[in-house]
Amino acid sequence: MRPEILNPLFAETRTLDGVGPKMAKPLAKLGLERVRDVAYHLPERFVARRAIANLDDGAEGEQIIVALTPTEHRAPYNPGRGPYRVLAQDEIGNICALTYFGRASYSAKKQLPVGEKRWVAGRLDRYGDMLQIVHPDHVEEDSAAHLARMNEPVYALSEGLTQPRVASLISQALERLPELPEWIEPGQFEREGWPQWRDALHLAHKDDNRSARDRLAYDELLANSLALLLVKADSRRRRGQALVGDRALRDRLDLPFEMTGAQRRSISEIEGDLQQEAPMLRLLQGDVGAGKTVVALEAMLIAVEAGKQAAMLAPTEILARQHFETLRAMAAPTGVEIALLTGRAKGREREGILLGLLDGSIDILVGTHSIFQDTVSYRDLGLVVIDEQHRFGVAQRLALAAKGRRAPHTLAMTATPIPRSLTLAQYGEMDVCRLDELPPGRQAIDTRVVPQDRMEDVVAAVERHLAGGQQAYWVCPMVRETNGGFESDDIAAAEARYAALKERFGDAVTMVHGQLTPDVKDANMARFAAGDAKLLVATTVIEVGVDVPSATLMVIEQAERFGLAQLHQLRGRVGRGSEKSVCLLLRGGELSETGRKRLALMRETQDGFRIAEEDLELRGGGELLGTRQSGEAAFRIADLDQVQRLLPAAHADARLLIDRDGGLTSERGEAARILLYLFERDWGVQLLRGG
Ligand code: ADP
Ligand code: MG
Repeated sequence: MRPEILNPLFAETRTLDGVGPKMAKPLAKLGLERVRDVAYHLPERFVARRAIANLDDGAEGEQIIVALTPTEHRAPYNPGRGPYRVLAQDEIGNICALTYFGRASYSAKKQLPVGEKRWVAGRLDRYGDMLQIVHPDHVEEDSAAHLARMNEPVYALSEGLTQPRVASLISQALERLPELPEWIEPGQFEREGWPQWRDALHLAHKDDNRSARDRLAYDELLANSLALLLVKADSRRRRGQALVGDRALRDRLDLPFEMTGAQRRSISEIEGDLQQEAPMLRLLQGDVGAGKTVVALEAMLIAVEAGKQAAMLAPTEILARQHFETLRAMAAPTGVEIALLTGRAKGREREGILLGLLDGSIDILVGTHSIFQDTVSYRDLGLVVIDEQHRFGVAQRLALAAKGRRAPHTLAMTATPIPRSLTLAQYGEMDVCRLDELPPGRQAIDTRVVPQDRMEDVVAAVERHLAGGQQAYWVCPMVRETNGGFESDDIAAAEARYAALKERFGDAVTMVHGQLTPDVKDANMARFAAGDAKLLVATTVIEVGVDVPSATLMVIEQAERFGLAQLHQLRGRVGRGSEKSVCLLLRGGELSETGRKRLALMRETQDGFRIAEEDLELRGGGELLGTRQSGEAAFRIADLDQVQRLLPAAHADARLLIDRDGGLTSERGEAARILLYLFERDWGVQLLRGG
């Protein structure tokens, strides 16, 4: 149960003044569902506002403070539609429109009487041939001078939100912060001279306060380390079962290839782990195409040889289905029974599977998260394989998988190459094996960087490619227009590109993205996999899986917007067959120095581990850990730099605490529980009760 002291933080955002049903959606889009999220919605950056005597002194796009005298109020032609404008004049007669959307117009009516000079602050823009400030802040005259030097926070927005709106929600959220006990080790806290939690949040919204931000990041890292260590401690406590296979099934496999050395090594390490009674907690790291599936199959066959069942968890329906098909084909000669369970299985089909799991007639189950629902019981689950999409969340799934009385062995697989220094942050103290050797015969993917405005040439290249009988992917950009602060839709971009390409290529084009129904998505995917469709337009949903060897061309729009790890994974969709493959990275505009180097690195190497390590060097951003906006990243507060600087201490601190007070019952232990709930790592706390 969540500690009561956190209740005000976990209240929904609609309990804040001014949040109605309309605002729920844009807030949810930013991941702001609770007061806590709002308080932690830290500024992306700060801009300095400059007080100017008249509008001639302000540059377009600049944050300014200026004294204006309203001359005229213009209500929208059609009430409720279109903005409310107040025309106002500076001291030398320049006219500027103060523009308000929606309810904000009420305050404009009241606060801007015609003929009375007022100080306003905001970004100076142009609307047609008129200057304008959208949703200006109204400033008390005597505070104007002070504000001019103050830093103005700039927050990430989504469509339907404005800076002042968000700022108002944040100040409400900050008022609700309770006083929480200190969870940071006192020595550490003193040494760093960090502010207390509540002060740190206030400070982090005020200006670029490194100490405050570090403290908040440290909290998050500490929470994560604690949760991972709790999972580890729990699995140590529980007895597992030793699985010893007799090779009967594995010997019947008839693979069309020789295992690589790395595959052999990994399998024998896994086999060694499975023979122990202590549950295995192992991570198999292997680049896209490194051949993880067959390693997983061997591991699962060991479990079945030992008379147990195995389950494989895939992140998406598409991937679950694909794994199911692949495994079933590979394992056909062994005669093991493999079933697929996704959220879509209903009625009789579902019941049949549930029965088969219970009576043991199903040996291996492949599925999405539904395979761990309460209604799913296994006769004797010996091994769980987690094929991971989300870069984080492995530990959470481990906690899920740990539900059985006797802990199953766990093998997590990831294709995200992460630098060694970050493995700990993401996976805690798991044992790791790396598939650092690609199967032979892979051809280098010819990677080129092309300006986006050569679109005609690109389309012509695609046309030649398709005419040659091969297939291609077209990946649409992640659109995020930071300028106006609005997040336009990736889906819309994909739809538009699809429509354009369809005019050129007709039915040869198909599309997948997150807003298509699962049935349509699957049908489209199947058409592409079968070769009936030649060109697949997609958002990044294809990042994770999808194995179509005859697809040998990949176009990635606005490649500079992607993380390198992500580009690498996308590119891994091609080069899977024996044909030469090409990847065209379209760059949207002029690149920064770093941007240029990053794309050059993609051109230069195909080694995912090297790309990950060097990307880490090139950028200090949080990109490698997943775009923060995606909601997938484990760390919402800590950026990559902070992870590197602060994680070792946080991890050591967490370990010390768990060693001394594994049940988290001391005073500091109680504070740590609060921290775990605060960062929604309560799955870690939940394990305490079992033990
Ligand atoms: P990933 O690690 O990305 O999951 P897969 O397991 O999907 O990779 O393997 C990619 C492709 O390589 C598959 O078509 C698989 O059959 C093939 N493959 C796996 N191991 C080998 C090997 N040792 N030699 C040749 N091909 C292999
Ligand atoms: Mg795979």
